[in-house]
Amino acid sequence: METKILSGEQGIKAGAEIVRAGGVVAFPTETVYGLAANAFDPQAVRAVFAAKGRPMDNPLIVHLPDKNQIGRVTRGYDKKYEVLVETFMPGPLTLVVPRGSDIPDEVTAGLDTVGVRVPSHPVCARFLAACGVPVAAPSANLSTRISPTSARHVFEDMNGRIPLIIDGGECEVGIESTVLDITGEAPVVLRPGAVTAEMIAHVLGEDVKSHSGKVLAAAPAPGMKYKHYAPACECVVAENISSALACYERQKNAGKNPVILCRGEHAAMLGGARFINLGGTDEEVCRNVYAALHKGEKTADFIICEDLGDRGVAASVMNRVNKAAGGKRV
Ligand code: AMP
Ligand code: MG
Repeated sequence: METKILSGEQGIKAGAEIVRAGGVVAFPTETVYGLAANAFDPQAVRAVFAAKGRPMDNPLIVHLPDKNQIGRVTRGYDKKYEVLVETFMPGPLTLVVPRGSDIPDEVTAGLDTVGVRVPSHPVCARFLAACGVPVAAPSANLSTRISPTSARHVFEDMNGRIPLIIDGGECEVGIESTVLDITGEAPVVLRPGAVTAEMIAHVLGEDVKSHSGKVLAAAPAPGMKYKHYAPACECVVAENISSALACYERQKNAGKNPVILCRGEHAAMLGGARFINLGGTDEEVCRNVYAALHKGEKTADFIICEDLGDRGVAASVMNRVNKAAGGKRV
């Protein structure tokens, strides 16, 4: 199968036709690129799992063009959470809500809940509206691999596996949506993202359990048990910039070709060591992290990422980097 890349109205129109006919296409969102299928069509949803090589027990998120359509996929949720829909949608927040009767088991891995999101990316919104059906989608990478934040990233993994990639440029946010479960007694962040637990707690006026909290161990998102975001080469997290540099020297002396991923302000401390600048602000680091991992695995054989901190959006980025490193620290 030849994989085309189309942008603008051409891509939107062709992509929506494929989805309506039961096929699978890659599409842009503000978080990462996704692989779209008609969420009401079990065969089409199975094809997404096949294209990715994703285990069937890891549910997909249902994407809608407008928050007024959430009722199509849920049988209702506690009205006190309406304020989250009003505040954070469209945007990088997925709400786990009671599953509606039209959503097949294939989408939710048999769970009685469904993850729902309204993306803010303008091309994405027009594509979803043109599809006319809710779109079930995971990230558009092969299972276990680094998530894609550009059409080129998608092409590297999906060439020959899907007919079309809709090119919407580089993703603004850069990591997957925050997943918040609102079906229990208290809201729980199952996956951290650009909408932080602190932001949600502020809007709700009540405590939110975060991914690092105890509750999560008891109620993880099904996907959390799987290997994720793995670069083709070895990857480690360095405690700080000097341990990153020390590790770099050790790897060099062992004949390796390492690269350091760090904040711009630390690059000056690296002497002649090779580095990829992740940017200055947390938002920049978030936007750039997957592109940096993609570039790192292509241009080096050992990736050293400095610890970016444990607060706010930086903590969400580190959730992904720690998985890329398989928990290895220096
Ligand atoms: P991805 O498709 O790679 O963005 O992954 C979607 C994430 O959302 C995975 O970690 C899933 O486990 C999680 N997820 C989707 N639906 C649900 C649900 N109904 N309950 C809990 N987690 C979910
Ligand atoms: Mg993914």
